[in-house]
Amino acid sequence: MSAQKIPATLIPGDGIGPEIMEAALAALEAVGAPFEWEEMPAGMGALKSEGDPLPGKTLDSIRRTRLALKGPLETPVGGGFRSINVRLREEFKLYANIRPARTLIPGGRYDNIDLIVCRENLEGLYMGYEHFIPIEGDPHAVAMSTGVNTRQGARHILEYAFDHAIALGRKKVTVVHKANIMKALTGIFLETAEQMFEERYKGKIQFEQVIVDACCMKLVMNPWQFDVLVTTNLFGDILSDLTAGLVGGLGMAPGSNIGADAAIFEAVHGSAPDIAGRGIANPTALVLAAALMLDHVKQQDKGDRIRQAVSDTLNVDNVRTGDLGGKASTREYTEALVARI
Ligand code: NAD
Repeated sequence: MSAQKIPATLIPGDGIGPEIMEAALAALEAVGAPFEWEEMPAGMGALKSEGDPLPGKTLDSIRRTRLALKGPLETPVGGGFRSINVRLREEFKLYANIRPARTLIPGGRYDNIDLIVCRENLEGLYMGYEHFIPIEGDPHAVAMSTGVNTRQGARHILEYAFDHAIALGRKKVTVVHKANIMKALTGIFLETAEQMFEERYKGKIQFEQVIVDACCMKLVMNPWQFDVLVTTNLFGDILSDLTAGLVGGLGMAPGSNIGADAAIFEAVHGSAPDIAGRGIANPTALVLAAALMLDHVKQQDKGDRIRQAVSDTLNVDNVRTGDLGGKASTREYTEALVARI
């Protein structure tokens, strides 16, 4: 294995961010990950120290490295700040949000779950084209929201989902939509998926389509019928929380944001202000995000070693944090994890 270093941006983030980042960095170091870090501020901490929750130097660093590991970021309430996460997605055209959900603790309500939700990350109803129409003194009498999906946007995420599924040796891609009601907005997504399958992917992988409400029911009744799910922004946001719930909740859910200009890896959960600074946060989601980052730079063997160590720590050593019913502190869990690597 080449010892060449790969520059990458490190954003510890807010709340429990720095605590769980310590665990992710310890795991990466233990497997000999190749990253050479540029540590950069963002979030509430950056607002205090730099006067900006997303400072220019942080953006410059990601432009240079095109690769980042990011802790959760708190968007300051009020003050006209837009969500930092949305700004990062737009800035680096992070069109694919990939959220794997894999059972790590057997014996729960659902066993042997191994799903991937691929969510379109830039378009749809999350573009924020919203306004109210005042009528007769009620400023909020009518609320309007416009969603925008484009052929090109659909192609980007669908191509990523099909290629990713095939590269991972997956069996099936399911496109999730609501084209029976939102015939244009989500119809374009279904139509594009069907065309792309016929033209490029037929024979390489199975393909099916399902309406989003039926998909939710099926995921709860029999999640094993699915493999890779690909869908528009809002549906993907919701479905990926559902699949995280199947495998033990947000503390176990990593995500990657893949784009034309960069790839950013993070935990799906937020900054957990209620437990920040107490040393009890579960770092698993960010540790698994770090493993995804290794897969991304084609060092999957190292990513696999981290995933195996997480599984052994949780199940063989039975070292778990409080959210999983255990007693371990973040640091105790991290030490057990590193000892397993
Ligand atoms: P949250 O995910 O931070 O917390 C929800 C609940 O889950 C809390 O009770 C929390 O203690 C618990 N929790 C979350 N992660 C945990 C972990 N690793 N270990 C143990 N328990 C954990 O969601 P929220 O409270 O709605 O959001 C808090 C802040 O985070 C907000 O400012 C929000 O904007 C931000 N946020 C950021 C991101 C991101 O940066 N990707 C994602 C979601 C929310």
